[in-house]
Amino acid sequence: MRRVFTIPEEQHVSITINVGEDFKAIVWKAQFDMDFKTECLFCYSEKITGYRVEDEDGRAGKVAVCPHCEKVNAVYM
Ligand SMILES: [Zn+2]
Repeated sequence: MRRVFTIPEEQHVSITINVGEDFKAIVWKAQFDMDFKTECLFCYSEKITGYRVEDEDGRAGKVAVCPHCEKVNAVYM
């Protein structure tokens, strides 16, 4: 008898972090990725910083955060 196991397709769910959230460096296990010469959406800062992060469910992604107001400016891959 042949048994067939169905393997669930890998789900491509994205992180639950949204633009405008406050940066939670420790909770999200943030690791520096790169700097962006982009103006912050929320304050006058002219630089934002990209980090590799994990959300509270362990999903990985990258976010760009303003070092001044510490708000998430972008979520990128
Ligand atoms: Zn800012």
